[in-house]
Order: sequence, then C-alpha cells, then structure tokens
Amino acid sequence: MAADTPVEMTVRWSGNEYKLTDLTSSNTVADLKSKIQNLTGVLPHRQKLLGLQYNGRPPEDDIQLGTLKLKPNLKIMMMGSREDVLAEMQEPPKNLSNLVNDFEMEDEEISIENREEHLAKIEKRVRDYNVTVLNPPRDGKKLLVLDIDYTLFDHKSVAERAEELMRPFLHEFLTAAYEDYDIVIWSATTMKWIEIKMKELGVTSHVNYRITFMLDYMAMISVHTPKYGVVKVKPLGVIWGKFSHWSAKNTIMFDDVRRNFLMNPQSGLKIRPFKSAHVNRSTDRELLELSKYLKVIAPLEDFGHLKHSHWERYKSKRKYNDIASTSSRSSSGRESRHSKDGNDHTPSHRNQEG
Ligand SMILES: [Mg+2]
Repeated sequence: MAADTPVEMTVRWSGNEYKLTDLTSSNTVADLKSKIQNLTGVLPHRQKLLGLQYNGRPPEDDIQLGTLKLKPNLKIMMMGSREDVLAEMQEPPKNLSNLVNDFEMEDEEISIENREEHLAKIEKRVRDYNVTVLNPPRDGKKLLVLDIDYTLFDHKSVAERAEELMRPFLHEFLTAAYEDYDIVIWSATTMKWIEIKMKELGVTSHVNYRITFMLDYMAMISVHTPKYGVVKVKPLGVIWGKFSHWSAKNTIMFDDVRRNFLMNPQSGLKIRPFKSAHVNRSTDRELLELSKYLKVIAPLEDFGHLKHSHWERYKSKRKYNDIASTSSRSSSGRESRHSKDGNDHTPSHRNQEG
C-alpha cells in the first residue's frame, strides 16, 4: 500500500475559494465532499466537482484521492446550491410574474458564462483571432450572427447543387435582415469550407445584402460543462471584444445547437434545424418567420429583456411596443418608449443601405 500522504487542494464555489488542508491520499471522494459540505453548506449529492477526473469521468464517491493522481495544490470548482437557496428558488415568485422566466436560464449556464478561465479564452481570441472584414460595419446597425449547417443549409443530404440544400427563403431572409442588421456568419468548420459554401449558395455575391465578416471554428472556445462535458461554443464576446459598438444589447444569434450559446444564453435564438432538404424544402418557412421577428425587435434599444425562446409569440404581435411591454420588467412607456421620434418604424420607411 502506498504511504498516506497529505492532499491539498482549493475549491472554488460561488466566487469564493476554500482551501482544504486536512485530507490525505487515503481519504475518499465522499470524504472530500463532506469537507466541502462543512465549508459551503452544499450537500454532497448536490455537488458537481469540476476538474476532478478518474479515467476521464467524474470519480465515484468510494475512490481514494491517492488514485486520482492529483497535481499538487490542485484547484477545482464546485457547482451546486444549498438547500435553503434551492427552496427559495422553488417557491412561487411573489407579485412579479416575469420572474418565472428568469429561472428558465439554468444556474449552470450563468456560472459557465462567468467563469474566469472561459473569459480568459475569449480574451485570447479577441487578441489573436484575425477577422477579415468583407464589408465594414454600418452605423447604427444591430448585429445578426448566423450558423450555417442546418441553419441556412442542410449539409448532410446529398444533392447535385448546393441550391437544392439551401434553406427556403434564405436570400429573402438575408435581404430583409440586412436593412436593420449587419450580418456575420459563424460556422464550426474551416474558413475554406465556409467560403466555399457561402459562394455556392450565392450569399457572398448577392446584390441585395452584404456579409460583414465570417468566423470559423478557430474563433470558438471549449468550455467544461457538467451537462455536456467539454464542448466547443461560439462566444459572442469574441466579436464584442473586437467591435465595441456591438454588445448583448444589440446582438442576436441564430443556431440550431443550443449549447453554442452557453457563453451568451441571453443572445441566442435556437432555431429548428433544416434537415432532409428534399422532403422539407416545400414546407420549411422558418427563415421567413424569423425575418418577421428580426423586423419586429429591430427598433428596440436593448435586446437584454427579450426571451428569444418566445419569439413566435412575440412575432405574432407584430408591434415592437407590445414586445417591449411583455418582455421588459417595467410596464411603463408602452407607446413611445423605444421610439425616439414617435414614428412608426415599419420596413418601408427604413433606409435600405443605411
Ligand atoms: Mg448548425
């Protein structure tokens, strides 16, 4: 048997660090969790320990710390809530019905979004990733970030021409969106493929709209999540860090994969994937409907209050001041709050080229 040696590690939880000094290599993961409970009040079965692995997975409770081959002074992260906090969250909200929506965003997502190592990776992309601007951003335009595969294009079906796999209404959608938004393409593949696909679809050469720039997999970051393991995501912070006039206030991102939004859940709209193009080409209207939503929200000064998962409900209302009153925490200023001049900003009144 190996000698019993001291194990020191630091646990981060909820913004605080806790140093564990009285463990040894013969203590088990269960012992570790019980120490963490003493410090944080989080019950062992609620604790998710990130950065602790045994054969590539989270270790079982009976595994001894000595067998985990831990680095000296390891830092791990614990995710989990205390019972009193959980009980509080499960109580029905008083008075404010809007609060219910806030709980839809899982606490897991919030902590992933704010974790330092993830923010550091974004900073690195902001610094090192080279964006080739195809068409300069236009003054006053909001930002629309689009995935390609299954969003604009069915990349798995077989066809003779890319056009057969193109999502219906793609060019109409991009043309309408371009009135209010600068358009950025972001796909989890290489720039070479993105360029080929966009060219084949006739997107890069279209006369009614322009693509501002395109991002490939190199601009993505990997994050560690308890739910999905290590995944690659598309952090909008990379764009916001490079183009400071865009932020969560005026950016919206469409993707068929929800985890791509993990670093900015508020700004993502998960669309229905476009698959089996040959079957669905005649009935898919997703882009047509989404362009109505983009139009309806375009006059808002801050997208931060919107719940994009309700987009179909909002869209059917058609009037942006209705959206503002249903999504904002404040119910005042229904009529003209988001309109500087009080005029109706309908599409036909807007300047096409900005
Ligand atoms: Mg996709």
